[in-house]
Order: sequence, then C-alpha cells, then structure tokens
Amino acid sequence: SSLRPVRCGVVGTAVPVVATAEGGDGRRFRQLPAPPGLVDELVEEALVWCSQHGLVVGDKNHPRSRKAPGVGLLHAPFALLPMSFPKVYWEQALELAPLFNELVHRVSLDGDFLQQTLARTKEVDPFTRRLLDIHSKMMELNKKEDIQLGLTRSDYMVDGATDKLLQVELNTISTSSNGLACGVSELHRNLIRHHERELGLDPASVVGNTAITQHAEALATAWAEYNNQSAVVLVVVQAEERYMYDQYWITVALREMTIRKTMAEIEAEGDLRPDGTLVINGRPVAVVYFRAGYSPADYPSEAEWRARLLIERSSSIKCPSIAHHLVGTKKIQQELAKEKVLERFLDNKSDIENVRKCFAGLWSLETDNIVNSAIESPELFVLKPQREGGGNNIYGDNLRETLIRLRKDGSNEIAAYILMQRIFPPTSPSYLVREGTFVRDNVVSEFGIFGAYLRNKDKVIINDQCGYLLRTKAASLNEGRLSTGYAPDPYVVLT
Ligand code: ADP
Ligand code: MG
Ligand code: MG
Repeated sequence: SSLRPVRCGVVGTAVPVVATAEGGDGRRFRQLPAPPGLVDELVEEALVWCSQHGLVVGDKNHPRSRKAPGVGLLHAPFALLPMSFPKVYWEQALELAPLFNELVHRVSLDGDFLQQTLARTKEVDPFTRRLLDIHSKMMELNKKEDIQLGLTRSDYMVDGATDKLLQVELNTISTSSNGLACGVSELHRNLIRHHERELGLDPASVVGNTAITQHAEALATAWAEYNNQSAVVLVVVQAEERYMYDQYWITVALREMTIRKTMAEIEAEGDLRPDGTLVINGRPVAVVYFRAGYSPADYPSEAEWRARLLIERSSSIKCPSIAHHLVGTKKIQQELAKEKVLERFLDNKSDIENVRKCFAGLWSLETDNIVNSAIESPELFVLKPQREGGGNNIYGDNLRETLIRLRKDGSNEIAAYILMQRIFPPTSPSYLVREGTFVRDNVVSEFGIFGAYLRNKDKVIINDQCGYLLRTKAASLNEGRLSTGYAPDPYVVLT
C-alpha cells in the first residue's frame, strides 16, 4: 500500500482524531503518543515520504528555489503525528463555514458599508486606499458580478480559559496551504498505517482532507458557468514564491485549463475586448484565481495596480472580487463583531447567534478605555494592521509602545489598526520536524476550515466547507509564519 501515489482529498468514513472517548472529556487536546524509541525512525520515514510525495517547499538557502520549480526543495515543516482536535469544535467550525461564506457574499454587496467602515483606515493606509479606490470605481460604473466565486478559510483557536472556539480571522483572498494540508493528512495516515501496532492508533482516525479536490472542483465549476470552452483559469502568482508547490496541487488538478502569470505579466500581456472579456495572449480568461495580490509587496509599481484594475473591469470571474477581498480585512471583521451589525446581513436568528458565539473581543482604537487596558496589560491583546500573510501583528511591549506613541501623536494612524483579545489555546507537547531535524516542544494549534461559495445571479451553486488546515507552533511564540514568501523561518508546522 505504500507504493500507492498520494491522493489528496480521500473521503472515507474517517472521523476526526478526537479525545472524546477518553474520560468523557470532549474538550481536551492531546498529542498522539509516539514511543520515544520510535521517534528517530518515524522522522526518517516521514522525511522520505515528503520527498517522494511532493510535500515540499522551496529551500530559502537555494538562490533559485523561489523562481524555478524543481531546484532547491525542502520538505514542508510538519508535526510528526496528528494532534487530537476535539470533535465538538471541529463540528462547530464545519457548521460555521457556509454561514461565513454567505456572510462574505452579503457584506460584499453593500458597497457603502465597505467604503464607510474603511473610510478612516483609507486616510492612513495607502494599500487599503488603493483597494478602496478600485472598489469605488466599480461602484461608479455600477459594475455587476453575476458569477461570484469565494474560496475562503476561516481560522480558529480554542480559548483555554473559556473552552470556546474563537475565530482568529476570515481569509477571502489567496487562501493557501490547501495542497500542503492534504499532503500532511496523507503523511500522518501513512505513518500510522505502517506503525499501527506500536502507536496504538487507527489510521482511519486521520480525517481525509478534501481541500484540493473541492477547491479545484469549485474553480472548474465556475469555469463551466462562464461557458466558454476556449477560456482558461488565470492563476495570479508572485514572481518568486517558496510555496509554489502548494499552488501546483491546484494547477495540476486543473491542468490544461490554467495559465500562471504575475501581475506585471498580466499588465503587459492582458487586454479587454469591447464586450469586457479579459484576454491573455489571445486566450479568454474565465476565472482569475489570486494566489498573489494580497500584500503591498505584490504591487511594486503602478503596473501591478493597472493589472488589478484591468481584472476588476473585466467580465472574468474574480476569486476574489475586490469587494470580497475587502470583506476579509481585519477592520470589517471588527465592525461585524459590533452589536446589531450581523443583523444587517443575516436573517436567521440562530445563524446570527452561532456566528457571534465565535467572535473574540474586537475593538477599534477609538475606544479609549480599551486602549488604556491594552497599554496596562498588553499581553492580553493583539494589535493588527490591515495586512495578510502573517508576521504583521504587534504584541507585548511593542504593542504598548505603539499605542502610547499613537496616542501621544494624536495621529489618525490609529485608524490603521484594530485591537483583538489575545486567545490562549491549551498547550500540549509535540514533535516538530523542520529542515530535516526534530525538536520536542510545548505547542498550541490553530484550526482552519476551507470554504467554497459559487453563485450565479440568484442561484447558489456551491456553499460548502472544503477540508481543513491544522497548524501548530511553539506555545512560547507570538506568531510563527507559514506560507509567506518572506518568512525567515517556518516556526509554524503543518499538523
Ligand atoms: P494574517 O492575515 O496575517 O494571517 P492573523 O490575524 O491570522 O493575520 O494573525 C496571524 C497569526 O497571529 C495567527 O495565525 C495567530 O498565530 C496569531 N494571532 C492572531 N490573532 C490572534 C489572537 N487574537 N490571539 C492569539 N494569537 C493570534
Ligand atoms: Mg489572513
Ligand atoms: Mg491568518
């Protein structure tokens, strides 16, 4: 069975690896046991498996690893064995996925809400301003997006003090790690299958991960809705990308349907036909799938902004549209958590209640007493700018100093940030494997559920959860990073 090729998205009768059966304590986390004598052997076997099944990233020490596929490969960072994740939380996150998909869509239709909520941020954050400018141009043109495709990922942590599943954030652009996440579930399942007796675990308890098959299917279904046989899916990528192999799982699944281009290439080679069709080198584009464009670094010149505008003006299906992108900002997350705001977008009382239950404390910096509390106890908060991709948040002493400075300046710059309650998940020991070696550390985990939403006018074609991403980092870290082009070290591992 070890000779079978890797298959992502194996859906079996698998149930989550859960601790529910133990002592009736359904909310406990547990690192699955690895007999100490077996760890070296398991690590070696896992490293070989990664190399042979494409569970790899570019090696930052190799000069061409970000540009050329096939050179300078390194295994993706991973936890040696899966983490038990209580079934109650898993099911809660699954139930929330379609609600958040629908919420993103409804908020995206309210252009004034987006513009007004981000108006103060716009004055002080040039990146958000550029996005909002494109958005208001589309509002002026009364641009309609008949077909909407959202590939989302809602991330959660369990708060140890209250036993609540709390949302960290909702990603609406360039939701990544779907390929690597599938690989890691397969890795764990294979390790457990080989060592079933020594480990005392059932390989079927590792949940099959459907992230790649379902996201690929959503892209293909969107392509079919566009209804042009000669059209392609345009995958927008960075010129240099350590995580290209994660993206290739999707592009390989869609094979001849896709082309990969950077924003600069799209600007140089793209054109709009009079009917709004986006054409790249003579090929019409059905779907634009952004795996770049979420960060200021993706727009080094005006050319990239022209490309973004060109895409938005076109009739291609955008994944995401500029409105969907803006719904994923931290500022909108914070606004939605205010009283009575969810009611503007969702009708069903129990849906509203379920969504609100997972909101952590979120505040704008205009709330004076919260800023005071954060200056007093910065360890209880996270300060967040309107950025994506990890490594942008501010913690601890740095948080305190930043707030004091912003307040002294009396500057509008405070509108660039939001404050969030810091979540403290329960910790457990784990073996983390990075760059060919392992360490044993006390870790915390973040649990993400992928989602897909496809709509053509009034018809919702897909609204579903699409597999999961479990990431683990040392409990002592503020923020590890995974899947950023510029991360110094992958402190976070796939689990
Ligand atoms: P990004 O869009 O850059 O991924 P996130 O809001 O997800 O921004 O923050 C990045 C990381 O910071 C998260 O993966 C998590 O490890 C940590 N983090 C963010 N918010 C919190 C929080 N409220 N409590 C604890 N850790 C957090
Ligand atoms: Mg994000
Ligand atoms: Mg995140």
